[in-house]
Amino acid sequence: MKIVVLVGLPGSGKSTYLERMGVAGLSSDAIRKLLADDETDQSIHERVFQTVRYLLRQRLEIGRPVTYVDATHLTPRERAPYIRLGARYGCPVEAVFFDVPLEVCRERNRSRDRVVPEEALKRMALKLKPPTLEEGFSGITVIAYT
Ligand code: GDP
Ligand code: MG
Repeated sequence: MKIVVLVGLPGSGKSTYLERMGVAGLSSDAIRKLLADDETDQSIHERVFQTVRYLLRQRLEIGRPVTYVDATHLTPRERAPYIRLGARYGCPVEAVFFDVPLEVCRERNRSRDRVVPEEALKRMALKLKPPTLEEGFSGITVIAYT
């Protein structure tokens, strides 16, 4: 089994990457919609991520071979719970980092229906710390912007 944590700003292409591979990840946006009927509700942040981790644990317990987690995961602190779960279930945790410039994310963000406010996107870009092996990832794939 393995856990794959996607890392990237809104608009960096995380959900599109999963869609292209034809896999369904655990998506924080999808869970926001399930819980609050609204993909953009940021007032239930902790509950959303509790649910992500709950579903991930269920998948690990029934032995699903790969679980992708689709959320921005901008900081080591936000990523640490997956490293801990990986250790607990004895499975490696990999990261896929969408290394896409803020400008490009901003452009893509503008052209989709669910728009993240400009200010929020900028704040997130300042917060973003690329994933490192030191955090405990077994491997890191960088998806460079082309
Ligand atoms: P997420 O917020 O990281 O999940 O980003 P999405 O996957 O929703 O992508 C945001 C927007 O960027 C969508 O309109 C996608 O069609 C577009 N997009 C995603 N990946 C690429 C890519 O590799 N190239 C281009 N040109 N557009 C992309
Ligand atoms: Mg997405």
